[in-house]
Amino acid sequence: MEYVEHVIDLVGNTPLVKLNSLAEGVSATVLAKVEYFNPGGSVKDRIALRMVEAAEASGQLRPGGVIVEPTSGNTGVGLAIVAQRKGYRCVFVCPDKVSEDKRNALKAYGAQVVVCPTAVPPEHPDSYYNVSDRLVTEIENAWKPNQYANPNNPESHYHSTGPEIWRQTDGRITHFVTGVGTGGTISGTGRYLKEVSDGRVKIIGADPEGSVYSGGSGRPYLVEGVGEDFWPQTYDRDVADEIIPVSDRESFEYTRRLAREEGLLTGGSCGMAAAAAIRLARRLGPDDLVVVLLPDGGRGYLTKVFNDDWMASYGFLPPEHSGATVGDVL
Ligand code: PMP
Repeated sequence: MEYVEHVIDLVGNTPLVKLNSLAEGVSATVLAKVEYFNPGGSVKDRIALRMVEAAEASGQLRPGGVIVEPTSGNTGVGLAIVAQRKGYRCVFVCPDKVSEDKRNALKAYGAQVVVCPTAVPPEHPDSYYNVSDRLVTEIENAWKPNQYANPNNPESHYHSTGPEIWRQTDGRITHFVTGVGTGGTISGTGRYLKEVSDGRVKIIGADPEGSVYSGGSGRPYLVEGVGEDFWPQTYDRDVADEIIPVSDRESFEYTRRLAREEGLLTGGSCGMAAAAAIRLARRLGPDDLVVVLLPDGGRGYLTKVFNDDWMASYGFLPPEHSGATVGDVL
């Protein structure tokens, strides 16, 4: 018989998939680490598992404990799956701009979701930040993972993502490219790859234009899950050799191309990372091996990047792209 005891045993060990069409005309090899193969559908399963297990080991999370985190997306799903296995309750706080589908996904895993108004300033008692802080103090046995400050976020990548990539490429990786949100992925994976290669592997961050990592102030952008308007504790400023800024337009173009040309239905931050990886690979030679990490799948973005009307409303597609007629198809 071949089976695992629980779905959380499937976290990590995601495959590398070669990019063919996107890398046309590029002499370096570009491999994508496809994180939607994690059981919760994203790279965040890795950090959820390690943050919870470390909190158990340190006694911060005790039997009957409640995990409280302001999250609306991938981290919530990862935490919910791990919590289910280990018998904890989950309470997630999210702003009301988060789609009903995302909230329902968290509830489907058994989490409770508290929705806060977006239209109030951060210091307002009903704000996203204040509500989660209040719940942590008011709920008995509550523990807040705080992915922006928890060292086990980058540590999870140091112990899983980094070694996997080194093993899967037989130590031949020359460049690692990843988007930067909390900075956990780039800091942990990057530190491991630099250590194991004696500094030979170059680490490249991809960042939405306007975010702090590429020198901006946090100007709004549409790509989700990456870029910040502050410097999180989980980001190690010494790891990245280069940060490549990518526009929304290019991020979404590459996201669509990943689906259409490579069969990889992924989120917008994956297109952003892929765009940066291809831009980098164009400067490299045939002996170079680029690994680009694609954090999540595209199902959560069908009404956005994969919706022609939404794309047209931001000027990313001409309006006539919407829908095909019988005449177009014949
Ligand atoms: N892409 C998506 C969709 C994400 O949710 C995240 C995490 N915020 C990232 C990229 C960036 O990963 P990290 O937080 O490890 O920098």
